[in-house]
Amino acid sequence: LPFSTINNRSRSESLYQEALEHIVGGVNSPSRSFKAVGGGAPVFMKRGQGAYFWDVDDNRYIDYLAAYGPVILGHAHPHVTAAICRAAENGTLYGTPTELEIQFARMLKSAIPSLDKVRFVNSGTEAVMTTIRVARAYTGRNKIIKFAGCYHGHSDLVLVAAGSGPSTLGIPDSAGIPTSIAHEVITVPYNDLPALEQALDRWGSEIAAVMVEPIVGNFGMVMPKPGYLEGLCAAARRNGSLVIYDEVITAFRFHYGTTQTYAGLPAGTDLKAIEPDLTALGKIIGGGLPIGAYGGKAEIMSQVAPLGPAYQAGTMAGNPASISAGIACLEALSLPGTYEKLERLGAMLADGLARGAEAHGVPLTINRISGALSTHFCAHPVTDYEEAQDTDGEQFAYFFRLMLDQGVCLAPSKYEAWFLTTEHTEEDVSYTINAAASAFKRLSEK
Ligand code: PMP
Repeated sequence: LPFSTINNRSRSESLYQEALEHIVGGVNSPSRSFKAVGGGAPVFMKRGQGAYFWDVDDNRYIDYLAAYGPVILGHAHPHVTAAICRAAENGTLYGTPTELEIQFARMLKSAIPSLDKVRFVNSGTEAVMTTIRVARAYTGRNKIIKFAGCYHGHSDLVLVAAGSGPSTLGIPDSAGIPTSIAHEVITVPYNDLPALEQALDRWGSEIAAVMVEPIVGNFGMVMPKPGYLEGLCAAARRNGSLVIYDEVITAFRFHYGTTQTYAGLPAGTDLKAIEPDLTALGKIIGGGLPIGAYGGKAEIMSQVAPLGPAYQAGTMAGNPASISAGIACLEALSLPGTYEKLERLGAMLADGLARGAEAHGVPLTINRISGALSTHFCAHPVTDYEEAQDTDGEQFAYFFRLMLDQGVCLAPSKYEAWFLTTEHTEEDVSYTINAAASAFKRLSEK
């Protein structure tokens, strides 16, 4: 392999200068900026196909960003593209109910048994935000407990100790959020049951809900310890608090379903005991178009307008284009072999990266769940946010750039996962492993 395959990104650089004049920070989501990896112009992409995308200077990259998760079928998957085109030809927005919404709700319900009723929204942020409102309406309580480093979108309540984007940028609490609101949120470490129990003891009757990424995707991929989710749910229930799972990343990522029915959880996990009251969804279920959804037990969901007093609405919600893309995406994911392939390629990639790092003496902890993995430049395990923070960000930044120059695109943050798609091939993965080996060699010489 030639060490450096990409040496011209001049058009990205000039577009970035232009973007800075018109778009705040030059990007429409801060995680796209290269601030956390030394700054400079992010790469401007112009086309995606399968596991690849091409930048405006015609360089090709193997894509492990997968748009932060949704693009699990790769770019421009024909089945999804056809569904979107059909939707566009029939008009993309009516402001009336459609049969498609029922079809999609049924699909989600059959994959996620804890959903009696769902409601479609437009983003993960909205889905999570509304589950909190519903939990408050249902319990008549105001506070929530969340976990350090878990990210749940950018609504006021959950932008406290909020993981990947904000922690990368060093904004644990965003400006513009009144302390009165921040006081309604209690943050405890993930994977630490006594800490949660203490918080519940202290604020007991004020806690409406415990909100968690049941498998974490926002400070790397982190599995719950054996018994943790059972303990979390039991402690919340004893306290009369609801359990909300944010499955925006995890739904349909590791298998055709959510964490709630995932056979890959620690051995002995009691799936009945880890069922949440409410679930927030997004990303993959939109097949690459904007979407979010939330749902749960009928009794709790009946709080939502027009049935109940908790208001939530949306002009774009349930639009035929997003719903059609979501249905097509789940149809494709349900084909036999999909998740077996993601697991096989994930294992190959993780093994290859681990071997390369070891060969060059670079301490690296890899957390992998199926086709999602995170690389932590450290010698210790990563099971909570503190351990994820205590890793070498400079080494990650250097590694990120070396990979980019070899045509391998990762997320520009040490906290974000690598996502395989169904379109990656063994050749792509072995190219990536070789590229990483040469990057590790460079790191070891630094
Ligand atoms: N929850 C989780 C677990 C997420 O990872 C994200 C986005 N990264 C969100 C919620 C917010 O979703 P969106 O960006 O669609 O608003």
